[in-house]
Amino acid sequence: MSYPVRGEEPAVVEALKVRALPEGSCDKLLEFLRLYRDAVQMVVDRIWSLDVKLSKKKLHRLFYSDLVKLGLRAHHAKEVYMYARSLVGSARGNGGRKPVLRKLSARVDRYDYKLDLDSMALTLKLHDGHEVRLRLVTSRGRVEKFRGWSNYELVVKYDGGELWVSIYFRRAVRPLEPRTVMSIDLNFDNVTLAVLTLDGRLVRLRRFKTPHRKVLTHRIWIERIQGRYPRSWRFIRSVRRAIERHGERVRSISWDYAHKLGDLVAKLALKYCSLIVLEDLEKLKESSKRDRRFNKRLGLWFYRRVQFCVEYEARERNLEVVKVDPRGTSSRCPRCGGKLFEGGYRVLRCRRCGFTGDRDVIATLNLYRRYVSKHPRCGVPGVAPNAPKPDEAPSGMQGSEDEAMTSNHMNLHES
Ligand SMILES: [Zn+2]
Repeated sequence: MSYPVRGEEPAVVEALKVRALPEGSCDKLLEFLRLYRDAVQMVVDRIWSLDVKLSKKKLHRLFYSDLVKLGLRAHHAKEVYMYARSLVGSARGNGGRKPVLRKLSARVDRYDYKLDLDSMALTLKLHDGHEVRLRLVTSRGRVEKFRGWSNYELVVKYDGGELWVSIYFRRAVRPLEPRTVMSIDLNFDNVTLAVLTLDGRLVRLRRFKTPHRKVLTHRIWIERIQGRYPRSWRFIRSVRRAIERHGERVRSISWDYAHKLGDLVAKLALKYCSLIVLEDLEKLKESSKRDRRFNKRLGLWFYRRVQFCVEYEARERNLEVVKVDPRGTSSRCPRCGGKLFEGGYRVLRCRRCGFTGDRDVIATLNLYRRYVSKHPRCGVPGVAPNAPKPDEAPSGMQGSEDEAMTSNHMNLHES
């Protein structure tokens, strides 16, 4: 999946990876894959020695005719030099050596293949006017999802004696006109979400526990084991296995949680027809002192994963997702903008206007305000959200149905 690119209409992109069987011999296909790989390598070698940034136009001038002379089609040639440029770019970007290609794989533009989802047949146009027909080996159900999507590119791979095809599908997203705004605050212990109407009335609050403590425990185990065998852990099989096991637990706990939460949040957002406001985590990376709500040891990857799933599920439902700068959202008063002070366990208080509230709820209100202040179509900037009332300490969440937030049926992290 991917996010909308600036200037393009918002779209969801997804790849379908399936095994493919050639009808008849696949000699020509293998010949093509070798030719393609060698062509990419040739362009990589030449770009590498040039050591300048090349525009698409320049690439075309330098390599197009040579590639076509090899027997490649026009769009093959384009894919080859673009791919070569991206390989060189990323190798240089992380200070690596010149890329050397070994695997047999080719990127094929939609002009060079024909895909028939009804008969699960794929025809590829190869070099020198050759063609090959492949049958896709997968269930109907997996393919059915992509009916009505467009596809624009695919990658063919030959790996371990098998052919694999990844087809890239795209679906334009026309976001629903939002009736409410849902802002989501992520922090170490909780995920808190608030649904507010466009004029600032709070209609729903929920809080979900995170499995962060459990993840952290596994991480601490890993660090301890590595600390005990500082130089040698990689070479001792049992130690390596123990580390891998903890790593697997971390991965499965976090993905499992992120998927469930993404689904739950998006369902709720659909019910309220919400635009979803998330924290822009990149902004936190930029700021030198990282927000203390985020645990340094966990890093930002966990929060990113949760956001990824929320975004994915939301876009699947045609809901709009925006990100706002989260810096300061848990230290400023959502009513008057004054500085907040600790007022007890998880409670913050504004000395200027007397506003008191739960730390996480305050963060969601501030995220809401930040979004609304930039998009005046909703709400009146400067008017505070109505909840929680200052005397309603510590938060507006008590006694409501949302108390379930912390309890049984929202027990997202399994034991
Ligand atoms: Zn205040």
